[in-house]
Amino acid sequence: MNFSSFDEMQKAVVIVGSSLHPLNKIAATIFGTDKERHPYSLSKTNFWPEAIKKTIGLDKKIGNSSGTIHAETAAILAAPYTYGASLCVTDPFCPNCAKNIAEAGIRTIYIDHKGFNKDFAERRGTHFTNMSMQICERAGINVYELNRKEKKLSPIIEIPESFTPPEDSPVEIERVSGANEDVFRALIALKLETHKGRKFAVALAKNKRGDIFGLTARAHPAIGYRMDTDIEEITHPEGKYSFMQEPVNRLLMNAPRHGLKIVNGLFFCSQLPTAREQVNMVGAGFSEVLVRNISQARDDWAFHAMKQLMKAEILMFGEY
Ligand SMILES: [Zn+2]
Repeated sequence: MNFSSFDEMQKAVVIVGSSLHPLNKIAATIFGTDKERHPYSLSKTNFWPEAIKKTIGLDKKIGNSSGTIHAETAAILAAPYTYGASLCVTDPFCPNCAKNIAEAGIRTIYIDHKGFNKDFAERRGTHFTNMSMQICERAGINVYELNRKEKKLSPIIEIPESFTPPEDSPVEIERVSGANEDVFRALIALKLETHKGRKFAVALAKNKRGDIFGLTARAHPAIGYRMDTDIEEITHPEGKYSFMQEPVNRLLMNAPRHGLKIVNGLFFCSQLPTAREQVNMVGAGFSEVLVRNISQARDDWAFHAMKQLMKAEILMFGEY
């Protein structure tokens, strides 16, 4: 089956009005083939996870994070297999989504040309140019502006077919014997030794056949950046954005990258996840996380978020 990026963009445009966001209504379509080579295509708007919508509300922040899942990230979370996939999005995307798109192994992005004309695209222009596009370039992602009316694609970034980005801290994936508490805790104990002193996350995930895998990720800059040589770029973040990719987010994106589904209740982080990581976990359908050092977090917002989500019984935190 041959996908047309114009048709796939149209699917996003058709649903964008259904977004509950009062200002930024955004939609994305992800399309490609699953691990059995069956074509798939699915579209998502930005959304509030049901539990957050019902018990906390649309107007409140969770820590310093909005309660929404961006459309691009929502599409990745729902996809069966994202490696090599394509993404159509109605608007220029934020740096956080750029990192997620890179982590998920997406190869090509199409942005609707109308997205560049809107007021909020202008407001976010510098983040898009200075961070989102840099992240795509480093990760080897093609980016096109798509004009539906004129059926025209204008390249913003084109990457040679043979390019593969350097990854100095890829997610560790290993086959394990079962999806249960004992196997999970044994794997965590092992990883606490090898990743001593680092922020990292571990989860158990299943493939379609039911085989179980352990996934482990450290906090690391976006794919294509190196911790040792790119310090200059990495440490000059644009306001609220950073080039660092937190480990829970890495695992959430790496599960679909490898065609895996993380098992609820078998998700661990060595310290308290950030507010955004917590919201993303909820958006991905998780209700439990195990934490080694619950009094240690990147910032105070993580504690605020934990209190809000626990009080509303949306995400429960256990101590390892
Ligand atoms: Zn975004």
